[in-house]
Amino acid sequence: MKSTSMKHGKTQSGTLVNESAAYPGYSSCADDECFNGIGSNDPEIISEMSGAVYSLLEGVGENPEREGLLKTPERVAKSLRFLTKGYREDPEEMLRKAVFAESYDEMVLVKDIDMFSICEHHLLPFFGKAHVAYIPDGKIVGLSKLARVVEVYARRLQVQERLTQQIRDVIQDVLNPRGVGVVIEAKHMCMVMRGVEKQNSITTTSAMSGEFLSQSTRNEFLRLLNR
Ligand SMILES: [Zn+2]
Repeated sequence: MKSTSMKHGKTQSGTLVNESAAYPGYSSCADDECFNGIGSNDPEIISEMSGAVYSLLEGVGENPEREGLLKTPERVAKSLRFLTKGYREDPEEMLRKAVFAESYDEMVLVKDIDMFSICEHHLLPFFGKAHVAYIPDGKIVGLSKLARVVEVYARRLQVQERLTQQIRDVIQDVLNPRGVGVVIEAKHMCMVMRGVEKQNSITTTSAMSGEFLSQSTRNEFLRLLNR
C-alpha cells in the first residue's frame, strides 16, 4: 500500500451557522430494553457508571429510589455505552479491509448519511446529515464503508468541527485519493433547548483536502449537494 505522501498537507475547513428550517424532529425512547444487549457491556463498567448516574439524579433534586427511576441509572449507563461505541471500533482498519483497485477517477459522493453524535461540552445530542466525497487515485472503497466511518466517529463524544476533519483524514490516509470533501449539517440540542429563537438553526461544517481545495472541484461538490 502506498504511503500517504500528500497526507492532508493542505487542508481547509470552515464553519457556518445558518437559520435554515425543517429538520425532522427526533423521537425519544423510554423503553426499558431499548439499549440492552447492544455493544460491550462490561458489568463492572456499567455498575460504576450507574453509581454516577444515581448521584446525578440526586444532584438534580430527584429521589433515585422512586419507582420510575429505579432502573434509570443502569439504563442510562447502557445507552451511553451504546452511543459511544465508536471508541471501541477502529475506522482505519475497517476502511482498509474494504479497499480495492479501480481506475475510476471521477468524484464519488455519498449524500445524506444520517449522523447522530453527542457534544462533548454538554453530553447532549447533535444530529443531522453527513455528505462524503472523494476522487479516487487507483483505489476505491465500498460505499457503505463511507457511511460506517461517519458512524464510528459520530459514536464518540465530539465537536462537529473535529468529527468533520476526522472523517476527511481517515479517508485521505487510507485511500490516498486525489482529494476528500466532507460536509456535515447538524442540529445541536445544547443550542436548540436553550432558547426558542435557536430551534431551527443548523450548523454546517466542511473539511476538504487535495483537489477539493480547488475552486472548481469544491463548486462541483457543493453543486451536487444542491447548495
Ligand atoms: Zn453542546
